[in-house]
Amino acid sequence: MRTAIVYSQKMREYDLGHVLTGDRYESFMRLFWEKLGDNPAFEIVEPGYATEADLKLVHTEEYIRRVERCESQDPHDTPLSPRVVRAAKLMAGAGKLAGELVQSGAFGKAIAIGGGVQHAGRNYERGFGIFSDVGICAENLMQNYGLERILILDADAHAGDGIYSIFARDPRVLFISIHQDPHTLYPGPGYTNPMGEGEGRGCSMNVPLLPGTGDLAYEYVLDSVFIPLAEEFRPQVIIMVDGSDTHFMDQITQMGLTLKGIYMIADKVRRAADRICQGKVIAFAGSGYDPKGILFPRGWLASVCGLTGLEIELDEPYPFPQGYRSDYGVLEARKAAETLKANFAPYWRCFASS
Ligand SMILES: [Zn+2]
Repeated sequence: MRTAIVYSQKMREYDLGHVLTGDRYESFMRLFWEKLGDNPAFEIVEPGYATEADLKLVHTEEYIRRVERCESQDPHDTPLSPRVVRAAKLMAGAGKLAGELVQSGAFGKAIAIGGGVQHAGRNYERGFGIFSDVGICAENLMQNYGLERILILDADAHAGDGIYSIFARDPRVLFISIHQDPHTLYPGPGYTNPMGEGEGRGCSMNVPLLPGTGDLAYEYVLDSVFIPLAEEFRPQVIIMVDGSDTHFMDQITQMGLTLKGIYMIADKVRRAADRICQGKVIAFAGSGYDPKGILFPRGWLASVCGLTGLEIELDEPYPFPQGYRSDYGVLEARKAAETLKANFAPYWRCFASS
């Protein structure tokens, strides 16, 4: 099955005037064309703008109108302008389309380039995100295509508090967020031990990791938390928010992953999807911050290759920091995983027996 790269040049309008620049999407596509442009396993698919009905799958009408008036309540991180709002609708449209391309069977996987909104909720913008492309993708599949089980793995360095808020009460969505401990990074310590609410209790979980945590700890968490849960939950599709800002040279986070580690995350997701849901994965590749613009395109490419099982040379663009250890944080990750398993044992058989 081929993989759709959901991309539009118009995404360049999603430029927030800070570390999230509008040239990042084209930077990735240049590298993609150089490395994989002649590979018939991929097809570029152009998304359209989300309609009012698409946005209302997740967002309130009052919020949509406020965004259209460009009245930001988070102006430092998430400034609004007509260009940015237009691009946010394109990002939302890309998320919805990526889901439909996989659901229809036209593609085995679809990767929305530049997406992966984590912090926006149903009625607020926050942390670079305006309309929840991840939320709209999942709600569309549930409301309009009847899906009943969707697993969202958020491997971004930041905790996915906005995604959590959207699905906290929905037992159809299993949300797993692995990230740098929010006591040490945005969005902060208010988001520490969410478990879901009401009928969704037990269906949302967090694995906070130490700054500096490397590839091996991430691998441990994926093997001991993500894989058993995926096997038990049996999602009909996996949505992955990619983890390119977990790289050790990221400008705004302090995790310790390498490009091989970012590849490994996507590779694990691909293998799980192959076993559980006919290989169906919808991915969002959008995080990663680097003033020279050379790191995150490689991170996104590593993720694309891991998701599709392509072997590729992944030369690190920056030297390793002095004293770097890929096994840093393993012991703490084990503790975090054990704590999580104990907390969630009442909800999941795979944890009750361990
Ligand atoms: Zn992030």
